[in-house]
Amino acid sequence: MSHLTPRRVQVHARDNVAIIVNPGGLPAGTAFDDGLVLRDTIPQSHKVLLRGGSAGDPVVRYGEVIGHLNRDLDAGAWVREDLIDLPGAPALDDLPLATATPAAADPLTGFTFEGYRNADGSFGTKNLLGITTTVQCVAPTVDYAVRRIQAELLPRFPNVDGVVAITHSYGCGVAIDAPGAAVPIQTLGHISRHANLGGAPLVVSLGCEKLRPERMLPGVALQRAGAASLPVLSSDPYVLTLQDQGLRGFGEIVAAILRHAERRLEELNRRQRQPAPASRLTVGLQCGGSDAFSGVTCNPAVGYAADLLVRAGATVMFSEVTEVRDAVHLLTPRAANRDVALSLIREMRWYDEYLGRGQADRSANPTPGNKRGGLSNVVEKALGSVAKAGTTALNQVVSHGGRATAAGLVFMATPASDFICGTQQLTSMNLHVFTTGEGSPYGLALAPVVKVSSRTSLAERWHDLIDIDAGRIATGEASIEDVGWELFRFILDVAGGRRKTWADHWGLHNALSPFNPGPVT
Ligand code: CA
Repeated sequence: MSHLTPRRVQVHARDNVAIIVNPGGLPAGTAFDDGLVLRDTIPQSHKVLLRGGSAGDPVVRYGEVIGHLNRDLDAGAWVREDLIDLPGAPALDDLPLATATPAAADPLTGFTFEGYRNADGSFGTKNLLGITTTVQCVAPTVDYAVRRIQAELLPRFPNVDGVVAITHSYGCGVAIDAPGAAVPIQTLGHISRHANLGGAPLVVSLGCEKLRPERMLPGVALQRAGAASLPVLSSDPYVLTLQDQGLRGFGEIVAAILRHAERRLEELNRRQRQPAPASRLTVGLQCGGSDAFSGVTCNPAVGYAADLLVRAGATVMFSEVTEVRDAVHLLTPRAANRDVALSLIREMRWYDEYLGRGQADRSANPTPGNKRGGLSNVVEKALGSVAKAGTTALNQVVSHGGRATAAGLVFMATPASDFICGTQQLTSMNLHVFTTGEGSPYGLALAPVVKVSSRTSLAERWHDLIDIDAGRIATGEASIEDVGWELFRFILDVAGGRRKTWADHWGLHNALSPFNPGPVT
């Protein structure tokens, strides 16, 4: 595409705005082939008004009303954030429930990846030593031990991909019996038994904290690792308590962690990758640093790949309540049954109330970067965001801190905050897909993070951070199907260890950040 040819993308025939594709934007006076002339200079990925309108007229994108003009504007005007009034969110009490459940799509067979089989039938996409913690107090000690393990032990165990400290800010100084406390506690429990850890982490506890190991891992047989004893390894986690009377000084504490780690590394090192059907994947989808291209390039391509994964029998999760709230009327009809639809509405209502208690609302969602990228408000952001969810039936809704158990498309309630959403999705996912327009070097230690850019200029500038460039869809160089298939195959390659994401190449791993809606004391 010549940069001189003016180019715009209109998503839906009903839309009265389109976004400008040309890098650097287009100057006022630019004429399109169909006669539209720009009244204003419009940056790339920002909206142009296609037909003149009056104050109060709807602004339509994705075939949906994203707001109303607050003044008269001519065709060719730049439709900026401050010219659009935010409409009310869809009412939650009269939504269609499972009225248009999509029929099951043709199964897609024959796609596999090489994974690490676990005793419970799940498959890991990595083979990691996990050291989990019950409280932030022990985090620096565990981090110190991890550095020693990496330097002194790991080189002897070539089949182990790494060691991960599951550290966090939770565990004490909290109202542990408040209803909201269940969210971080369940989250940490699920993450501690992540498929990529092979089932049995070492649990490091302080001893006096509110979050007891048996509360974090209910129903799990915990073995107490005494100061002097060497563990007999089994599938059950070990608990090492730093305040153990038998441990003298920091040296003995670290030595005890290293001793347990070494035994576990011997076990993990014997594991081999073996073929697994694509149905053993649980893929979490998320966007961060979105722009106005996200909803026409990367998110629809991810949606296409999501449909392929669902057809292959995998679980695909989308999340981010505040980015689903304004598109909920498009999702409740797609629910597999009325109960699933009602569960989705329950999660929307819970979050409305949560935001209300903090005297915030959904208008708090878009960031300055989103707005710089041409997203005027949360409605426009949400309509682009749910494109990630593809077209299949919504099979399950999981509450904050829960674990996805159904195959197919699942909504997991999480905040939209990148690192909190990623942490919550780690309760279930063994691979993460992250779309971005503005760019984020985000990554996770526990699961590979595949990053997809909304525009080619980002993929070129961050050539060693972005894994897949979906910007080619806007320029016409590739179709949504092309990039969807490319992503699907890339996911299988990464899950099977044949390719590495850029985030893993550089070791870019964000800290875990469980959602805590409960009170802190
Ligand atoms: Ca996000």
